[in-house]
Amino acid sequence: MIRIEHLGKTYSDTGLTVLTDVNAEIQDGEIISIIGPSGCGKSTFLRCINMLEPPTSGNIWIDGVNVTGPGTDISKVRRSLGMVFQSFNLFDNLSVLDNVIVGPVKLLGMSPDTAEEQARELLEQVGLASKADYFPSQLSGGQKQRVAIARCMSMNPKAILFDEPTSALDPTMVSEVLRVIRNVASRGITMLIVTHEMQFARNVSTRVFYMDQGVIYEDGTPEQIFDHPVRERTQYFVKRIRTVSGHFDSAGCDLFGLLGKVHNFCAQYGLDGSLTERTEKAVETLISCCLTSLDDAQSAKLDACGGMDLDVAYSEKSGHVRMRLLYPMEMDGILDTGTARGQARLDGLLSVCMSVEQGTYEGRQQILAGVNCE
Ligand code: ADP
Ligand code: MG
Repeated sequence: MIRIEHLGKTYSDTGLTVLTDVNAEIQDGEIISIIGPSGCGKSTFLRCINMLEPPTSGNIWIDGVNVTGPGTDISKVRRSLGMVFQSFNLFDNLSVLDNVIVGPVKLLGMSPDTAEEQARELLEQVGLASKADYFPSQLSGGQKQRVAIARCMSMNPKAILFDEPTSALDPTMVSEVLRVIRNVASRGITMLIVTHEMQFARNVSTRVFYMDQGVIYEDGTPEQIFDHPVRERTQYFVKRIRTVSGHFDSAGCDLFGLLGKVHNFCAQYGLDGSLTERTEKAVETLISCCLTSLDDAQSAKLDACGGMDLDVAYSEKSGHVRMRLLYPMEMDGILDTGTARGQARLDGLLSVCMSVEQGTYEGRQQILAGVNCE
């Protein structure tokens, strides 16, 4: 139904490359949720699919037609793809009923009577039959969005692209709109939905695209993406993990600077006083036990090989804090229990952390430590 190959998009005015190499094949009737951090290009991706934004490179096929090729009738393509935006985009000067009639009559050549009959049916389906004669200004946000969905359906599209359809709504109205979208989904229309509603994405979609770094970074079933994401950025996103980091070498550890940063980080994400204190204590212990007792040879290796990096990660979902220290392969294991010094460091760390694991990560040695929970 929709095939996307090596899609790239650079905005010419700013020179910003948003999409580098997006590839996807979407079958008829699939319901795809698109998730990812703000600014990663989700809207740009949808807007490229229906050619509201011309792609910079790559090809898009819709129903076998290469819409990026020369001589394509773009307006015909757009008619076959419905789009529902965050901000409704209704015709404010037309009644609710006319909003749902105008497209089929003007663009598809449907007779006004048939179009009205269809419009009333669609308004019934989105629960707004009684508002047919209202104007958009007399409706709530949730109702406007339901009209927008009915209007979109009136064009009998092959697929519908939703761009954060609920993010401009009061929380009380989100569920009515999601219910309508779910209803549309159950009719087998192909849908791509950019959403922040993770529970909804999990329930409604056949597949989830996690977008990041200009590509579809990971895709899979909702279970795969939400419960067993394979790649790190996906994991961080779905577990809502926030991080703060610091870099050190043997001489230049600004411990107080780092602790200040960690403190602000804890305040920003609303960690309570006790967890903040335990996190600061754990960071202080990890840094001091790893840096203070290095001998000259180890210090030299540390500096020669690019120093150490510490990440402190807080999961808003689980409430857990984890630290990760990365240091060069060339150094001896900092927590090597075969030496008295290593054992003492490990004991020190275990006195403030509930778990300590060691391993390697991306070509460096790693210490992972979970900060004590209550
Ligand atoms: P998302 O929907 O994932 O939040 P967008 O696709 O809206 O991301 O935006 C991706 C990036 O492209 C952002 O940095 C944004 O500022 C930039 N961008 C979006 N639209 C335009 C535009 N029309 N011109 C220039 N830059 C844009
Ligand atoms: Mg967007």
